[in-house]
Amino acid sequence: MSSPLLIELLAERWHQLHERVRESARRAGRRAEEIRIIAVSKSHPPELLEAALAVGIRCFGENYAQELRAKADYLQQRGHQVEWHFIGHLQTNKVKLIAPIATLIHGVDSLHAADALNRWGERHGKPVHILLQVNTSGEQTKHGCAPEELFPLAEAVLRLPFLRLDGLMTIPAPGTPEQVRREFRLLRSLREELRQRYGSSPESFPHLSMGMSADYELAVEEGATLLRIGTALFGERPRKQPQETRPTEQSQL
Ligand SMILES: *Cc1c(COP(=O)(O)O)cnc(C)c1O
Repeated sequence: MSSPLLIELLAERWHQLHERVRESARRAGRRAEEIRIIAVSKSHPPELLEAALAVGIRCFGENYAQELRAKADYLQQRGHQVEWHFIGHLQTNKVKLIAPIATLIHGVDSLHAADALNRWGERHGKPVHILLQVNTSGEQTKHGCAPEELFPLAEAVLRLPFLRLDGLMTIPAPGTPEQVRREFRLLRSLREELRQRYGSSPESFPHLSMGMSADYELAVEEGATLLRIGTALFGERPRKQPQETRPTEQSQL
């Protein structure tokens, strides 16, 4: 059982996040209903997700395949309905763990990964929804395809019959608000170009997954539809980031 205090704390933070999202949307002349918050639960124990469920949070983001699988099993065994988003970097050998669970896979940045997902979709007769991750910062170490690689990659992805390209995702480099805003703007302009080139309607490729705890208000102003928020909801993550294992440490809320 989750403590009432924990549930109260999460409820308060969840409420405040939505208030601030509404404010940012209003500033940008957007409807707040277009924007969803994904609760990033990576490296937190499944008991914390149960507390979040008690608050009414239903949509979680995870970065590691095994951890996603373990938490999905844990919550399913307890009868919870959860929508999972895979927001980590997709390794092709993890497709069979992730694809059956995730509603949307955010971090696809190569044809190799897209091919593996398409094969999974074909084998199971089920389309796989993805976002293409773009490196909007130009930094060497980041995941994501370069902006100039996006259109050839998207064109190839659109030919794969079991993939559904739902939009784009980015993780900006640490920087000033102006720098971060520029990256969000770039992602949105790439999506506009994607629509013009390949879209069948003005609503094609609807999602822009951008904005984390430190910059989600900027992201909303620049057109985000999916915010990936961890720390601002759950507090600091346990220090040691588990790699592909179920977390055992307590979260520090
Ligand atoms: C961890 C993570 C987040 C959440 O970051 P916070 O700063 O804790 O909100 C969002 N997106 C990705 C891809 C992540 O890895």
